[in-house]
Amino acid sequence: MATPKTSKQELLAVLNSVLGKSAGSPIALHEPNIGDHENELVAKCLSSGWVSSVGQYITEFETGLAKFTKAAHVIAIVNGTAALHLALHAVGVKPGDEVIVPTLSFVATANSVSHCGAIPHFVDSDGDALGLDPIALRAHLSANTSIKDNQLFNTKTGRRISALVPMHTFGHPMQIAKLVEVASEFKLTIVEDAAESLGSFVGNAHTGTFGKCGVLSFNGNKTITTGGGGAILTNDAELAKKIRHLATTAKLAHDWEYIHDAVAFNYRMPNINAALGCAQLDRLDSFLEAKRKLATKYSEAFAECDTLSFVAEPNGTTSNYWLNTIRLNTPDLQTRDELLSAARADGYLCRPAWNLLHTLPMYLDAPRANLPVAQKLWQSLINIPSSARHCLGDI
Ligand SMILES: *Cc1c(COP(=O)(O)O)cnc(C)c1O
Repeated sequence: MATPKTSKQELLAVLNSVLGKSAGSPIALHEPNIGDHENELVAKCLSSGWVSSVGQYITEFETGLAKFTKAAHVIAIVNGTAALHLALHAVGVKPGDEVIVPTLSFVATANSVSHCGAIPHFVDSDGDALGLDPIALRAHLSANTSIKDNQLFNTKTGRRISALVPMHTFGHPMQIAKLVEVASEFKLTIVEDAAESLGSFVGNAHTGTFGKCGVLSFNGNKTITTGGGGAILTNDAELAKKIRHLATTAKLAHDWEYIHDAVAFNYRMPNINAALGCAQLDRLDSFLEAKRKLATKYSEAFAECDTLSFVAEPNGTTSNYWLNTIRLNTPDLQTRDELLSAARADGYLCRPAWNLLHTLPMYLDAPRANLPVAQKLWQSLINIPSSARHCLGDI
């Protein structure tokens, strides 16, 4: 009988067979794909002179995103973090409120809550879909909150809990339909962090369109990029108007006078970034197709492994497979780190899931639920190289 392979051998064999040998330059986790089309539109934008906060590409990018996501309104923003901040502010999150966020997320999810003067309240994840677990959330809220005058209060801290920020982890849609029920039961407003999930759907509905509003990111490592950038999606016309106003210093339209009617933000996406975004959006379908091909290759290869499993899109959903993800069948931090070191030494720039947000120094005192599943996920998840270029040639 052959000796069973170690997880290190299994991982390196799959990376080698799917991506090819990484000779010389390392293979990035996720890199932007910039070509002639991007060069053309950005050059056009530059020569037009309209590079800043006004211009045709901003409108075109917003219209294109609205068409793709079927959101009624899209507002392009300087980055995803600012978009989350503005979205939370606009739906009425106030200083001193608590906002429910998954502890397994990128730090921006919690920071945007803090930027509102509010306090993140960390909850557990669902072991399959990797997003916030609606069932565990319901149990936690039932035991620790009460509703007064149609608002939810944390019975331990006395603070109002005003919103809920689910996140679609690595592009895999979380159980959003269930979460919408829990949110309505507990009078919570949903702001979806869909920063990682452009091109991910639940049935035919795009992620980010289930809550009061949703947020996308176009940072350099996301599925499409505008350099830095983000967007807010909403089906609420009033809210869209308010967000647009607040994103542009709350300036009232006037030929020459500077009249502002609120303390507001300078968060609009510049036209030059939107020009890049328009070009990328034209190529989004090809990126998504290539990324799905790559995910299929990984999925087939990891199916042969004994110690590692590929994390597939949840049933009933379409993932953009932003970051392909595997899990150790036995969660173990030491093994995880050995795999990361070995893969990186071979030129495959794999990465662990984020350190859980409730363990970061600025959030040590933040309220939290029991977090057993997130702990296990943190010890077992590894992201593997996922750029579209690995399969763009196949389509
Ligand atoms: C990328 C990301 C953001 C923030 O987006 P930026 O554009 O980088 O500010 C927010 N939340 C999650 C989960 C992200 O992955």
